[in-house]
Amino acid sequence: MARGARIAYLGGMSAEDHRHLRPWRMIQRRPSRKIRVGSVEVGGDAPISVQSMTNTVTSDAGATIDQIRQLEEAGADIVRVSCPDEDSTKAFATIARAARVPLVADIHFHYRRGIEAAKAGAACLRINPGNIGSPDRVREVVQAARDHGCAIRIGVNAGSLERELLERYGEPCPEAMVESALFHARLLQDLDFHEFKISVKASDVFLTVAAYQQLAEAIDCPLHLGVTEAGALRTGTVKSAIGLGSLLWAGIGDTIRVSLAADPVEEIKVGFDILKSLGLRHRGVNIIACPSCARQGFNVIETVAKLEERLAHVSTPLSLSIIGCVVNGPGEALMTDVGFTGGGAGKATGMVYLAGKIDHKLGAEQDMVEHIAELVEKKAAEIEAAKLAEGRLAPAAE
Ligand code: SF4
Repeated sequence: MARGARIAYLGGMSAEDHRHLRPWRMIQRRPSRKIRVGSVEVGGDAPISVQSMTNTVTSDAGATIDQIRQLEEAGADIVRVSCPDEDSTKAFATIARAARVPLVADIHFHYRRGIEAAKAGAACLRINPGNIGSPDRVREVVQAARDHGCAIRIGVNAGSLERELLERYGEPCPEAMVESALFHARLLQDLDFHEFKISVKASDVFLTVAAYQQLAEAIDCPLHLGVTEAGALRTGTVKSAIGLGSLLWAGIGDTIRVSLAADPVEEIKVGFDILKSLGLRHRGVNIIACPSCARQGFNVIETVAKLEERLAHVSTPLSLSIIGCVVNGPGEALMTDVGFTGGGAGKATGMVYLAGKIDHKLGAEQDMVEHIAELVEKKAAEIEAAKLAEGRLAPAAE
């Protein structure tokens, strides 16, 4: 966009919506079969869903429900809950009744836990049919999934590949991971069960990306993306952004889980930030901020941190620019819904922009954070009202 050319606003669309209408921003998603995980569609043209996993003791239903609530408030579409024992699957029924989002029961090996979880209200079982024993057991689990409207996720992990594959390939590699995934998938297909998705995760970014690329060529089911055991908040976020980002940019991936050794709520935030950066999902306020320098007219870093927290509850997609001075402030404000530009070093004033146009000056005596937050909330309410009037989808579902 030429400098000085303000974006054209259409109907109730925000500047954030417009930002992603450029043809060079469009990502062609790999066509995949659509399945349902409870009320959430996964695959096909469904929005890429964001999920996380509880880390409470599942048999402590109260603590698990509390954590699910936090994840729901952060925007989680799906939540996974471990079911390592019978006490967990017993608690699962209470948890599933309380949850507003579909739950995936993480089973791994024990077929009975899978059947119990399906009966207890799981929307999906994370289980590898080849790991649970005899064909009769596989049949029983699949029948339980079918009877209770459960999907299945086949989850192949480079760290727990079948011994035979490791001996044949010598080490975990994309070919071995894909062969394992297709083996488990065939067991389901042979029973005429097709409501499944697959993940092929590794902690190594190259291995993860190569495995998903090969799998995407080999099968049309939806893919659950993740770099497993990615690490702590900072390192795990970087690895996930590179791994998941590369795949999503190539159109691969239908649901994502960012694995962090951190509060699961952070996984949801990072997941949405990855999708937001690629224009694949728009949720909440996209804050554009400069890193600040001696020219800043106010403390940019502190202001942005406070605004991030203050505006965390806004789910409407819109953009906000917080720029320290006029070097870049007016240019960024042209392309955002709400903009604030500092007056420059030593000047305790700044300019507020609305829909790309200068609107008013903000004096030093005013509470900048509260003032900007209120403007953003007002803009969000306007966008929602316009969308409602036009009969468009709620933003979280877009
Ligand atoms: S926009 Fe201004 S304050 Fe911010 S980094 Fe650039 S020159 Fe410094």
